Formats: sequence, C-alpha cells, structure tokens
Amino acid sequence: MFVRPLKEIPCHSHVTLRVSHYMGRIAGRRHQHQSSSSYVPKHLPAKEEDIEKLDRLMAVSKNLVVLTGAGISTESGIPDYRSEGVGLYARSTNRPVQYRDFLKSESARKRYWARNYVGWPRFSSFEPNATHLSISKLVNEEGVVRSVVTQNVDSLHIKAKTKNVIELHGSAFRVVCLGCTFTIERHAFQNLLTQLNPEMQIVQQTMRPDGDVEMNQEQVEGFNVPSCPSCKGLLKPDIVFFGDNVPKDRVEAVRNEVKLCDGLLVLGTSLTVFSAYRIVLQAAELHKSIAIVNIGETRGDKLASIKISAKCGDVIPQLCR
Ligand SMILES: [Zn+2]
Repeated sequence: MFVRPLKEIPCHSHVTLRVSHYMGRIAGRRHQHQSSSSYVPKHLPAKEEDIEKLDRLMAVSKNLVVLTGAGISTESGIPDYRSEGVGLYARSTNRPVQYRDFLKSESARKRYWARNYVGWPRFSSFEPNATHLSISKLVNEEGVVRSVVTQNVDSLHIKAKTKNVIELHGSAFRVVCLGCTFTIERHAFQNLLTQLNPEMQIVQQTMRPDGDVEMNQEQVEGFNVPSCPSCKGLLKPDIVFFGDNVPKDRVEAVRNEVKLCDGLLVLGTSLTVFSAYRIVLQAAELHKSIAIVNIGETRGDKLASIKISAKCGDVIPQLCR
C-alpha cells in the first residue's frame, strides 16, 4: 500500500521513530504521481523540503487535531465546491440549497430530495483514499493525531474506521426529523423513497459534494417526499445546510479539542466557511502550531507556520511510518 514499512526501526520513542522515518524517506525518493481523478485541481508536485518541514512538526507532536475539507475527497471522485476549473461552482450554475429555502418551500424540498435520491447510490459508494487511510493510521495506530474534525458529509473518515471523528457539518448517511427525535439511516430512507417513487429512474449524473445531482424540473415535480412517521414533521439529512448553524454542543466539542491539542493540521480546505475558519482562529489565539496542506490559497495561510500547496495524497501518506 502507500505506507512505507519501517519495522527495522525500534520504537523507543515517538520522536526517534519520526526522525528515523524522516531519514529513511530521504534515502528512498518516491515519485510524485498525478491523480487520475478529474476533480483534483491542477497542482504541482509537493516540494520535498515542504514535506520535510511538516515531517519535523509531526516528529514533535503527539496530540494534533486534523481539520479536513472537500479537498481530501476529490481523490475519491467527489468534487469540491470551489476549486478553480474542476469544483462544482466552476462546472455548474446551480448552488446548494439554503436552509431557509428548504424550510419554507415544498418545491425546494422536492428538488433537494429528488436529486439526492438519484445521486445516492453513487455518492454512498465512494471509498476512502490514501489520505483518509493515512489519517486513520495517524489516529488509531500511531497516536499522533488526537481527533479529526471534518467539514465533509461523505463519511469517508468513518468508512476508513477512524476513531475520534467530529463531523462538523453532520453526515449525509443519516436523516433526521426537524420536529422530533426520529432518525433513520440514509440507506433505509432510500428504500422508502424507492417505494414512494417507483417511476423515478436513477441515471448517472454529475455528482455534488453533498450527494446532490443535476435534474430537470419535470423530474422533480412529481417526486414524493415522506414526512416523519412519528410526528409528520419535515425530514432532512443530518447535515448542516448553507445558512444553518453548527449545533452548539458540536462547536464546543471542537473548541475543547483545539484547547487540548498541540497543533492543528488543516487538509484540503480553503477555509471559506466560517465554522471551519474559526477553528484556525482559535488555534492561532492559543499559539498552537498550524500547518496547512491545500492546493491553492486558504483564508488561514497567514496564520500557518507551514503551508504546502499540494495535493493531500502526495503529502499525507508520507507522514505515516
Ligand atoms: Zn418527527
């Protein structure tokens, strides 16, 4: 796989291992490769000196928080929102549903669920890539990372069996009622939608980062959306829509993680969304080390001691021992 085995190096201490790994990496250059995914923006190979800088940070860290965004899932085949040329906003004039529209308008809800229904089989089938798997190893096995905060709703960290994941914006894999505590797993909800919409064809379409696809009005109008079986309330995926707020207890849990960490590693996000940017602001206020790996600029670049403009898949697997 992508992880270089270094079994011959004794694990006397975390730092020893890390430094040994660092020397080992210099001895055996590995070639950068371009991803085959068409959703990864144009980028240059990661510079070796940049990876070495990050490696040195990792060598002295035992308690990092990793913050991830859509940029780490593009290599799994899911587009991000904002990347130049390949992101959703560059490909389509459609924008994600605003929370207030979802609440107010039945047609907005029909449109949302019809597209989500058609996109689900493909969206739910995406697999974690080398970056997700490496992060999982850094948390579960190497103990370098204490927790992962993700803006992604694709659950790829969960699929990679990563411990201590906080899904900041929720998960597309659950559906909740806005009126009561009813929750249904998204796969089960898909079966319900199929029963209610036997005529609806599922055809491969352009995918969006939240599992939405493009559809015409005609297809949307006839779509049947169930209400909550307990209270008849509105059902919504358990994700934070644009224009909605991250639940307070989740914000607090993340704040606590940042307080307890010894550094923040930001991966694959431009930090445009404030709920993510404020995590970096808090880390900066507390004088934590901040490192960012992202193709292109981010809102947090000025606060970071290390900024690597490269594809996460070219960098993160190299941080594993
Ligand atoms: Zn309900």
